[in-house]
Amino acid sequence: MKSHDGLYIDGAWRPAAGRDVIEVVNPVDEQVIGRVPAGTAEDVDTAVRAARAALPAWAATPPAERAARLTALRDVLVARKDEIAETVTAELGAPLPFSQTVHAGVPIAVAGSYAELAATHVFEERVGNSTVHHEPVGVVGAITPWNYPLHQIVAKVAPALAAGCTIVVKPAEDTPLTAQLFAEAVHEAGVPAGVFNLVTGLGPVAGQALAEHPDVDLVSFTGSTAVGRKIGTVAGAAVKKVALELGGKSANVILPSADLAKAVNVGVANVMSNSGQTCSAWTRMLVHTDRYEEAVELAAAAAAKYGDRIGPVVSARQQARVRGYIEQGLAEGARLVVGGAEPARETGYFVSPTVFADVTPEMTIAQEEIFGPVLTILRYADEEDALRIANGTVYGLAGAVWAGDETEAVAFARRMDTGQVDINGGRFNPSAPFGGYKQSGVGRELGAHGLAEYLQTKSLQF
Ligand code: NAD
Repeated sequence: MKSHDGLYIDGAWRPAAGRDVIEVVNPVDEQVIGRVPAGTAEDVDTAVRAARAALPAWAATPPAERAARLTALRDVLVARKDEIAETVTAELGAPLPFSQTVHAGVPIAVAGSYAELAATHVFEERVGNSTVHHEPVGVVGAITPWNYPLHQIVAKVAPALAAGCTIVVKPAEDTPLTAQLFAEAVHEAGVPAGVFNLVTGLGPVAGQALAEHPDVDLVSFTGSTAVGRKIGTVAGAAVKKVALELGGKSANVILPSADLAKAVNVGVANVMSNSGQTCSAWTRMLVHTDRYEEAVELAAAAAAKYGDRIGPVVSARQQARVRGYIEQGLAEGARLVVGGAEPARETGYFVSPTVFADVTPEMTIAQEEIFGPVLTILRYADEEDALRIANGTVYGLAGAVWAGDETEAVAFARRMDTGQVDINGGRFNPSAPFGGYKQSGVGRELGAHGLAEYLQTKSLQF
């Protein structure tokens, strides 16, 4: 696998200040496939200075030119999509077809949507006797996780560039090769030097330095709620803008009138996809008491078909974490119907697709984000009970509702404390706002709402 031994700063690959490196490991066979620099606070400072220096010219670039760069970026991502998919598969372990359609495909759609938005967004409007200008927020510090390594970066970089911001990205330490490939794509797309910068490194070192840097105007973070809380505290103390996309524990609510087999099968597929490492996964399936055992049987059959085809989780640490949750589920009295803590293979960070029944709302596996291929099935007595359980966690990122009648599903979805709900299996929309209620985050990504995070208004009165 190709890797750069430098950091992409001010339009070129430059040596890091220190000599420390991060080894990138293939989670399927545990082999080291690359080494990247472990950037330090000094590197972050160099990158932020480059972004600051590039800001005035980029912010003043006509939106049509920014749209042209984003179109070029989208085109490079299209041209290099096979390489992107292979790189994601190598460092994340996702099966290649999933990397091709989702890990490479979704960022292409998102980059394309921002090329269009940059060209069409109204950056100046009239409000009575005022002209309101939508101006870029400034220098963005972006910190991203490994679960969708390219999507998480593009969901921040594309709107930042469309808005006229410049940016420094600190990608996850487990998946830096995809980030380096993206930096090559930005370069090839002709984005001016300093507008986009990449500092690979460890979270508590490079990530923290970026979040704390006094010359960063907006910190945009995607990751765990624990780290997000720290970043929010730092940003708050500095009165700095912050966007947080955090964890989730979403409910898949199957109402009595739903097509049970469809709801269960799609629900299981949703949890198993990307080996359960999806923040918006519907990891709590809620089924009416009368149809509970039927649903458990269907889910068990659906999950058992996956075997080790879902791919491993990203790292040994993540594997240990997920296995720990499975053991905790057993200890708290949940009924294991498929899978378990024993790994599906001896080598590689595999976790068996796992389904727990007889899960009650207060159990740890029903409350905490597991981030692995583990489905919990809970029973409810009536609709009010279902709503209480669905809303009964600290999270509120996503969810699903199934009913025989769409109106019935919508009425229930409107009462859920969560940022997005799929109705009867509705498809992902890369232009719809994505983000959390409650402790799932602050702010929204994607589409016009995502663009707004990178803009601030200035009103001129006449
Ligand atoms: P993480 O919080 O451990 O790491 C995320 C990023 O933060 C990484 O780049 C890491 O290096 C960096 N980081 C770690 N400590 C830091 C610190 N002290 N200061 C600054 N940066 C630091 O999360 P993860 O394990 O990589 O990702 C999984 C989590 O991300 C899950 O909780 C998942 O739900 C969440 N997630 C949320 C969304 C969303 O859109 N809401 C999307 C994907 C993932």
